[in-house]
Amino acid sequence: MIFESHAHYDDEVFDEDREALFSSLQEHGISTVVNIGASLSGSEATVKLAEQYPFIYGAVGVHPSEVEELNEENFARLRTMCFHEKIVAVGETGLDYHYPEPETALQKAWFERQLLLARETELPVIIHSREAAKDTLDIMQSLHAEEIGGVVHCFSYTKEVAREYLNMDFYFGIGGVITFQNAKKLKEAVAYIPMERILLETDSPYLAPEPHRGKRNSSLNLPYVVEAIAQLKGISCEEVERITEENAKRLFGLQT
Ligand SMILES: [Zn+2]
Repeated sequence: MIFESHAHYDDEVFDEDREALFSSLQEHGISTVVNIGASLSGSEATVKLAEQYPFIYGAVGVHPSEVEELNEENFARLRTMCFHEKIVAVGETGLDYHYPEPETALQKAWFERQLLLARETELPVIIHSREAAKDTLDIMQSLHAEEIGGVVHCFSYTKEVAREYLNMDFYFGIGGVITFQNAKKLKEAVAYIPMERILLETDSPYLAPEPHRGKRNSSLNLPYVVEAIAQLKGISCEEVERITEENAKRLFGLQT
């Protein structure tokens, strides 16, 4: 079955049909979902979803674009959420230099704090890194992220950057972008990354794969991603599903 390692089902675009969507996942081969907090309210909503649905686990964290909302008081709240039995990771956290705000110093400071939180709570970390490859690696290396472990979500860098993350024993979240015509660099990187380091993800509601590019994404689109990876690796879709599910269970400590 398919393990969805990164979705934002707390997003309001799912308010109308969340229940119906969730009840159709199992019959479409989706076994497990990790819902990812991108803000404080998103993290709180993630805890609620995880409490409500047996197949949902959660990650709590604040996305680099949202760090202006953080302060010591609400960071302490985030920390408390980490001890919830269905919270399996800290994130998403990292650096995003696509937009000029929030300023990089603030992004870096809260990225470091969240990495330290992951270390303290012994949870893996979910990294968001966009147009910030060098600074992300510098911070991770200086804080010994290899002792924390985690996944680089929506990996979008080159094979060379992939090697650096592999040296820290990190996993790679691969989603809809792999199906895009112009994803040549990513395809090269995925061909290079060992199967044992790949997780399936959608980043729903964003980044729908071909042939649904531009529409609202959901875990139901993961078979397109599975197929693209299977082709690149020269293995069957069943193998891609089996190996990535094992990888996710290992990383998130859900071994059965
Ligand atoms: Zn995300």
